[in-house]
Amino acid sequence: MPVLSLAKTLMSHLFWVRTRSIFLSSLLVTGLWQGLHYKGNFEFLELILFDRFVRQQAPLSPDSRLLLVTITEEDLHRHGWPITDDVLAATLQSLQKHQPRVIGLDLYRDLPNPPGQEALSQQLQADNLIAIEEVVGNIPPPPQVSRDRVGFNDLILDRDGVLRRSLLLVTAPEEDYYSFALRLSRQYLAPEGINFRLGDRALWFNNIPLLPLNPHAGGYQNADTNGYQMLIDYRNSNNLAPTVTLSQVLDNTVPPDLIAGKIVLIGTVASSLKDFVLTPYSASRSDDFQMSGVMIHAQIVSQLLDLATQERHPFYYATQWQEMLWLWGWTILGSALAWLFKHPLALGSLSILSVLGLGGIGWILFSQQIWLPVVAPALGFELALGLAMSHRLLYTTTRDPLTGLLNRTSFIHHLKRRLQPSPVALGVIFIELDRLDLVANSLGNSISDRLLLAAVTRLKSVVPRAAHLARIGNNKFALALWQTHPDTLIQQADRVHQVLAKPFNIVQKELVTASNIGIAIAQPQRQHNAAHLLRDAHTAMYRAKALGTDRYEVFAQGMLEEVVDRFTLENELRQAIAKQEFALYYQPIVSLANEQITGFEALIRWHHPQRGFISPGRFIPVAEETGLIVPLGEWICQTACQQSAQWSQQFPNLPLIISVNLSGRQFQETQLIHKLAYFIKSAGIPASNLKLEITESMVMQNVEAAIDLMLGFKALGCKLSLDDFGTGYSSLSQLRRFPVDTLKVDRSFVVKMGQSPEDRQIVRMIVDLGHLLGMDIIAEGIENEQDRDRLRSLMCEYGQGYFWSKPVSVAEATQLLQQQP
Ligand code: C2E
Ligand code: CA
Ligand code: CA
Repeated sequence: MPVLSLAKTLMSHLFWVRTRSIFLSSLLVTGLWQGLHYKGNFEFLELILFDRFVRQQAPLSPDSRLLLVTITEEDLHRHGWPITDDVLAATLQSLQKHQPRVIGLDLYRDLPNPPGQEALSQQLQADNLIAIEEVVGNIPPPPQVSRDRVGFNDLILDRDGVLRRSLLLVTAPEEDYYSFALRLSRQYLAPEGINFRLGDRALWFNNIPLLPLNPHAGGYQNADTNGYQMLIDYRNSNNLAPTVTLSQVLDNTVPPDLIAGKIVLIGTVASSLKDFVLTPYSASRSDDFQMSGVMIHAQIVSQLLDLATQERHPFYYATQWQEMLWLWGWTILGSALAWLFKHPLALGSLSILSVLGLGGIGWILFSQQIWLPVVAPALGFELALGLAMSHRLLYTTTRDPLTGLLNRTSFIHHLKRRLQPSPVALGVIFIELDRLDLVANSLGNSISDRLLLAAVTRLKSVVPRAAHLARIGNNKFALALWQTHPDTLIQQADRVHQVLAKPFNIVQKELVTASNIGIAIAQPQRQHNAAHLLRDAHTAMYRAKALGTDRYEVFAQGMLEEVVDRFTLENELRQAIAKQEFALYYQPIVSLANEQITGFEALIRWHHPQRGFISPGRFIPVAEETGLIVPLGEWICQTACQQSAQWSQQFPNLPLIISVNLSGRQFQETQLIHKLAYFIKSAGIPASNLKLEITESMVMQNVEAAIDLMLGFKALGCKLSLDDFGTGYSSLSQLRRFPVDTLKVDRSFVVKMGQSPEDRQIVRMIVDLGHLLGMDIIAEGIENEQDRDRLRSLMCEYGQGYFWSKPVSVAEATQLLQQQP
């Protein structure tokens, strides 16, 4: 069962909306980003962050395998520029004395600079000397240097002018071109037994591969990575290796162990020669820091040596797929946060924390030589968060969170849109789910929520796709059908009713709900207000509920006023008993034989302080529905009993019978007999002075129970009369079983009697039937002499009507009694 309940939670609407939203917005952003990525839109920012990471790293110690011979401003001063061949030859000679392993000449010497051409020429032929050539600018190496001792200038600037990559090797059909740094490293490593080789898709130092940079590596998005390129892993910014000046070499003041067995690099650092490039360190220096070419070559050489000896790792780059998953992960996180954290403060701080975390992870990976994009995921994270948040806001303002249906506001919005441009026939069906509160109160909210969801699922199954279904209130729904016919609407209402009438099986309980349904139709070519249309459907629903039709009602003009009236009436009725606004009036019942008053029918009157007299025909049904009839009915019985007692005292010789009307609801109340017995006893009257009027329809609802109850009244000693006789459908066989004393012929028969002989025959039959069953007859509504005479000739015993008197107050009724002879 817990598995099932979990499954049901997972089925909840919001869960799927969330999941879908998270999935879609993250996917959308990832896709969009991947597109921008290919266009290189984030590269600029990624590289700025790359530089920052580089600067953040702990600087490595100076590389003692190298010696930098720098040509400073002062050297230029002393030896002029370009330095002559004899000065350079002297420098090389001075260095060679101490047996460096390699000398790298980072100077262009393609043309002679006399004097000393001969001496230099000899020096240049040394087989540990590597010279540089500029392939792009077409500056050839010195002619004396053999091809296998020439390396090209390998610096590749990124679009922002910063040096981060170095080109190591270019293969061509006739010759492989090596970079200056690679030539130097190779030359240096050979005696150590580390041989360099160009292998399958990698450069190898013995068995250590050096994978070439790809165009999408790390933060690069579409870099030009022709040939074999490598990301430069800077050793540090300014203390790369032991450094001496040209003059120091010429003066022979350089300690020999700085030279012996080393790679000696000769190059310019004088600022006037402008041989400088921007590096990742440049951005942090206020003085526009740049690094000279010879230093850069030294950086690359140092890095290559470390890679070959495994002192440093090469950079690792994720594949395109891995980078996409990395990006997708962050966008999922962003959109998930937007759905899970609603408070703006929580969401804001979590978003900041996440981006900081992302930066932190990026930095930690970078320090492990793993370069992953950070800016793109960070921006993607924020965009996905924003996207999902807007979706969430849109959803929560237009949808009901529990069911996912439209809410009231957006339902009315849809209605408005359909109503305004060209009014078409559209209908609104208002549905109220009954007994939901009952379920909530007895079984708890979670069960009632499930019931609600189950009901919504069923509703959806019978609602056409184009229709709009909304949750308007706790247990209230509205359904709008566009361009529809009234017949279709009624069929739809029927379907809704049927589908909700079937019992629901929830947590092994069979729950039954019912629905009250109201329909409002907007006529084409007529102006309608959306909110009013919904209200009308609601009113019709209310009407259906009040009538207990358990089906549907279609809104009709006038229903609204009726409903409003009824509400006020109901309220005022509640207070009327306490305020003593009711009075019992009495209408005499007269013997047709001698015109003597034999009793009264008690009829209730409501004198409303503002609205004046309100007819019982109007408020009795309301009192019935609301149950107010119970206390009101008791008051009526009690008052009638007391009045009977008073008149028996006043007129001891007159045997008066007071008739009291019972309503349907009262008639079902089993307590009534006991209460009645109590009232009779308290008033001190014989029970036979009281006659209860019951209508035919009341009895016919449940014949057996009614007979039981009637027998109960009889046992008490009360008399019974069957009111409004002839308007119901009691069969003759049943009538025989009713223990009633009197039949009251309905006023409608008496009125029609004068119109045709047939109607007269009917009254005669009723009177005869009553007599046959041993009952006496009262004719109601006698308004003139003719009526009275006709009834008298039909042997009817009693009459009641305006001919003698309208229902009157106690004082007037007492007066009538006093006037009797
Ligand atoms: P009902 O029981 O059929 O009462 C008779 C109605 O006919 C009374 O209307 C009475 O005033 C009216 N009536 C009597 N003679 C004539 C006549 O000659 N011509 C015309 N046109 N009308 C005549 P009322 O008092 O307005 O009561 C209407 C109905 O309200 C009653 O019909 C009864 O069903 C209900 N009612 C009145 N009082 C009570 C009450 O105390 N308790 C209950 N449960 N129902 C009551
Ligand atoms: Ca009556
Ligand atoms: Ca009647």
